Amino acid sequence: MTAPSTPLTPTLELACDLIRRPSVTPVDEGCQELMMRRLAAIGFALEPMRIEDVDNFWASHGQDDGPVLCFAGHTDVVPTGPLQAWQHQPFDALIDADGMLCGRGAADMKGSLASMIIAVERFVAEYPLHKGRIAFLITSDEEGPAHHGTKAVVERLRARNERLDWCIVGEPSSTTLVGDVVKNGRRGSLGATLTVRGKQGHVAYPHLAKNPIHLAAPALAELAAEHWDAGNAFFPPTSFQVSNLNAGTGATNVIPGELKAVFNFRFSTESTVEGLQQRVNAILDKHGLDYHIDWALSGLPFLTEPGALLDAVAASIRSVTGRETTPSTSGGTSDGRFIATLGTQVVELGPVNATIHQIDERVLASDLDVLTEIYYQTLVKLLA
Ligand SMILES: [Zn+2]
Repeated sequence: MTAPSTPLTPTLELACDLIRRPSVTPVDEGCQELMMRRLAAIGFALEPMRIEDVDNFWASHGQDDGPVLCFAGHTDVVPTGPLQAWQHQPFDALIDADGMLCGRGAADMKGSLASMIIAVERFVAEYPLHKGRIAFLITSDEEGPAHHGTKAVVERLRARNERLDWCIVGEPSSTTLVGDVVKNGRRGSLGATLTVRGKQGHVAYPHLAKNPIHLAAPALAELAAEHWDAGNAFFPPTSFQVSNLNAGTGATNVIPGELKAVFNFRFSTESTVEGLQQRVNAILDKHGLDYHIDWALSGLPFLTEPGALLDAVAASIRSVTGRETTPSTSGGTSDGRFIATLGTQVVELGPVNATIHQIDERVLASDLDVLTEIYYQTLVKLLA
């Protein structure tokens, strides 16, 4: 715990206030109200958007002409896991002897939310007549199913032709030092459940049956060995992984009638959904399988190429930390994929992600002040 004589910085004070609200997805627990109160106080127009059981809000400040810079993020956090496993209780939000701010959401992503608010408060105070508009797009459904969160808000914004030029998502992008990595895109994710039909029978009478395991095995081996693409300057090669494989009745003397395989592509911008589907079908057809596939697309790849936003973010990181940032498209999907569909340049920039979703989630407290300064400098570069 910090000594009472050491006052917290504004960013850390707000981060602690947010962490102390136990907003396990999709519950918001008043986090957004707290953020909206701060934004209203500096003249933001607020638009709460509760969609089904999910709290979201949109807020903006400035004028209609000129570019729009949006800060995006989520107030929900993942469950804590067993409380007794935590060194400090997950919603106590305290700073330990090593200067780490401990608590669920410290890194993912209440620390970023606090940094955004403080940076914007400072910017609006210093540049009340700034160019264009600053906006916030905040959801409490990023860690859950994410149907009524950013995706649904983006649909509303699209329906009324809301323009978003640039977006900074506060996801914890950094690897070892704050700002060392920013995400300038994400791979797409395409899932599938493959059912291969055979004919059930007695193992002693294989000529009367059709074994789907024997039929599917060489096809799966070929899918696993396939070179889907080589990736490009921004993306690693597309990868194919089988996550589940099931067949068999449990009995040792029965040839099963069916095999199910669940697989997933993480794909680059060198491949398309239709292209991958056609190639999978071609391989399965070549092996003469009787099959059915249920496809589930959970996100298209997106990419923000070097331009005004990436340049401003990289220059701000350089001026605040002295570091050259590395743009990366690795990792899982994020809400950035929904926002990018508006034609927006999207960059994810947040604190170090080493402990996200873990027991004892924590972040170097001083990193959040650094992050505030980086967000502030970015605002100056783009809208001052
Ligand atoms: Zn997150």
